[in-house]
This record gives sequence, structure tokens and C-alpha cells, in this order.
Amino acid sequence: MSQSRFLQFFDNLRHIVNQYRPELDTYEEFYRQVHQDPEISGMESNTAMLVANHLKLLGFEVHTGIGGHGVAAVLKNGRGKTILMRAELDALPILEQTEVPYKSTKRMIDRYGNERPVMHACGHDMNMATLLGASALLMAAKRMWSGTLVIVFQPDEEETGGARAMIDDGLYSKVPKPHIMLGQHLVPLKSGTVAIRSGPVLLAADSANVRVIGGPCSGVNPQQCVDPIPVAMKIVLRLQDDVREEVGPHEDATVACWGFHAGVPGNDYVAYADFKLDIKTIKHAVREKAFEVIRRSIHDECKAANVPQDPVINFTVRAPLTTNEPSLSDPLGAVFQEYFQHDAVEMQFIRACEDFPTLGAGRYVPYAYWNFGGSEVTEGPAPTNHSPFFAPSIQPTLRVGTDAMALAVLTSLAAPVD
Ligand SMILES: [Zn+2]
Repeated sequence: MSQSRFLQFFDNLRHIVNQYRPELDTYEEFYRQVHQDPEISGMESNTAMLVANHLKLLGFEVHTGIGGHGVAAVLKNGRGKTILMRAELDALPILEQTEVPYKSTKRMIDRYGNERPVMHACGHDMNMATLLGASALLMAAKRMWSGTLVIVFQPDEEETGGARAMIDDGLYSKVPKPHIMLGQHLVPLKSGTVAIRSGPVLLAADSANVRVIGGPCSGVNPQQCVDPIPVAMKIVLRLQDDVREEVGPHEDATVACWGFHAGVPGNDYVAYADFKLDIKTIKHAVREKAFEVIRRSIHDECKAANVPQDPVINFTVRAPLTTNEPSLSDPLGAVFQEYFQHDAVEMQFIRACEDFPTLGAGRYVPYAYWNFGGSEVTEGPAPTNHSPFFAPSIQPTLRVGTDAMALAVLTSLAAPVD
């Protein structure tokens, strides 16, 4: 597109957003209400009901109870691409320590049976408010674009199980499969800023459950058989170095132990030691290499210790790499630049993970995932996501997030300029 055509196209987008943006009071109120009444992963029933009711009120076809409390809404609006937009329903088991008047004091029994404090410390309340605002805008402006919208409110993002659960529960038997997916997340950048870039933006995270098997060995007193605890401990201690050595110091690969359990009371030998590994990488080849090294090191250590049976190693994907498709994120970056001017900034790679790409259901669905800022802190570091002090300002955060999501959809679905 030539520069003058781009500017014409862009002017049209700006006009649509400014003319059809809803009164945001409703969404400010929604934000405060949800912030004060957060729900922990997998238990988001009230929040899901609130968003579903609002989407129905706006005129969307709404499906509920997908993969737990997942909600998906559809608007078929003529020929064109299908775009999926996503926000998350869940909050965190964190005791809120902010001073906002709508502070959460809520406690809940989580799905594991433990009583926990609950707080929207990751900003999913703001992600939801902006997605509802953008949905209202696009519904009101439906004569100005054509295509299909699929709006997903996903449960259980914090434990990265919700996207998979929605897919496995038949999300795409209820709503059309998307050609494009869009997601945005609140971060502690200055309120009013939007940040995007092409390529990798969030890590790939995998888990490995490992069992090192010790006694009893046949024909030997169980107490004299191999004790799997020191063997497993040795493995845990060497894995990060082994992986680093193989992939090289300049490649990003971390291996951490996230759980260790061995032995049962009353038994004088230990039959096995279980541990859980967390593996984070950015490149596909490095990830494969890390798996290979982990497998080999565990086998080597077990062999050297003469354990009676092979170890058991199970890898599972927690979250795939989140990497923006340039054919989407480049034009979107240009639109953000033009619209937000100096408040459009370069997105930083974040050492966190997301299950958003899982909504592609195993197919390659191009997507764009960007950040918007909610911080008012001008001096020193702002409280980050998952901090008990995370307290985004409601405005201009809400308006900017609403506009950004609506612009992203319109960039793909608005009528081209003649
Ligand atoms: Zn989050």
C-alpha cells in the first residue's frame, strides 16, 4: 500500500474508532466489579456469567461452559476473514496489598482444596474490560467492516490449561475456526502506551515429570539397594549446566526443578524419587536439543548409579512459543504508530509464557499479541504483573486497550479505500 493510500485507510480506521467507541463508564464499572470479586483459575463462574451476559446484551451469539467456564461469542457480519480475539477470565492466589478503593479481600477454596487469597494481579480484569469495550465498538460499527468475529474469554490461563481445555471441549464445533487470532495483555508500561513487535514475544515452556527408580533390587536387602534420592538430586544439580554446555552460552535455555518428592513414612527404603522440571526456550532447535540433553543426562546418571530400572521421563507442553506473524504485526505496528504516536513503543521480549497460541488447535493460525501499559509510576520500577502491589490506573488504560483491540480487527476487516 502506498503511503497516501495507507493514510487514507488509517483515517478511516480512526474515524470508525472515534465515532463508535462506547461510553466507557460501563466498562470502568465492570473493571472495578471484577477486580473486587476475582476468581481463581478453573473456578471463574461469576466472571464468565458477567461477560456472557454482557455479550448477549450487545447482540452476540454466546456459548458458555466450554472447557470449564470458557465463553465464546460470535458475530457473523458478511463475507471476509474470521478473527478470534481473546482475553483471560482467571485471577491469582495472591493477597492484594494495593490501596485502591476496589481492592480485593476475597478468599476462595481452590480446586486443590486449599483456601487462598485471590487477586487480579496479572491484569486479566483489564484485558477483559478492553475486550468487551472493543466488542461493543465493533458491534456498533458493523456497517463499516465485514467478516466474522469470534470473541473468546478463556479460563485457567495462569496454569496454562484453559486454551487446551476449550479446544478439547469442542470450541470449534460451536464457533468458526479463525483465520487470524489477536490477543493483548496489560503490562507495567506507562498507562496509555501500546507495544508490539514481530517475531518471538514470549517463551516456550515445557514440563518434564521424571521418576528415578531405586530399590528394591532382587536378591538384595532393600536397604542396601540403590537409594534414588541422591541420584535424583545429582541429576537436578547438573541439568542446567549440561544443557548450557550443549546449546552454547548465547542460546536461551533454562532448566529448573519445580518439585521433588521421594520416600514414604514408615518405609526404610525409597522405591523411587519423582521430580518435575520446567524448561524454557525461545528457539525450536534449542528446545529439541534441551530435551535430548535432559534425557541423556538422566539416563547416564542412573546407569552410573546402577539403578535397577530405567528412569521414566514424560515431557508435556505447557505453553508454546508466542511469536508474532510479521504479515500481521508489521501493518498493525504501523497503524498503532500512526494512531498512538509517541505512545506506540517497541515491545520487549518477556520471559513469561502464554497458552494463547494453543487456540490455533494444532494448526498454524497467524496471530498478533501485544502489550498495553497501565502504570502511573513515574519514579523507580512499577509493580509488575503477579505483584501484590500491581495497581493499574483505569484510564487512559481502558480507552487505549479498547481502541488498540478495535484497530487491530479493523486493520484486517475494514473496507479497503478506493
Ligand atoms: Zn496474564
